[in-house]
Amino acid sequence: MDNCIFCKIAAKIIPSSVVYEDDSLLAFKDIHPAAPVHFLIIPKAHVSTLSDCDDEHVAMLGEMMRLVPKLAAEQGCGVTRDAQGGVTGGYKTQINTGPDGGQEVYHLHLHVIGGPHPWRGQK
Ligand code: AMP
Ligand code: ZN
Repeated sequence: MDNCIFCKIAAKIIPSSVVYEDDSLLAFKDIHPAAPVHFLIIPKAHVSTLSDCDDEHVAMLGEMMRLVPKLAAEQGCGVTRDAQGGVTGGYKTQINTGPDGGQEVYHLHLHVIGGPHPWRGQK
């Protein structure tokens, strides 16, 4: 897509702070982080919204979700368990979809937002 900022990031025409890359996915830090950890996972191939996904996108969506815990741990907000089995750490995952969903960039992206209670103070 010629005028898509995330296609340009995927093609390295626009620079970003990359945290992960493979043949089909790219993850990079959000330019306006909402929490100490905030990165986005995108498919390199353009898809506008989650609502534009169909059967052909199921594997890609699964790979995006599978990547979340690995990258969250690498970025410092993974879920950990103490000796008593208590859970610490964690993150919020979010896909804004369409205008009523608060989507601003129309290239599918999964937010991973981490740090202590990152949802506080947000819409
Ligand atoms: P959304 O409201 O879900 O469409 O969120 C779009 C996100 O993309 C926002 O959190 C922006 O801060 C982020 N964003 C926009 N441009 C860039 C960029 N050039 N590099 C990194 N993140 C960006
Ligand atoms: Zn795009």
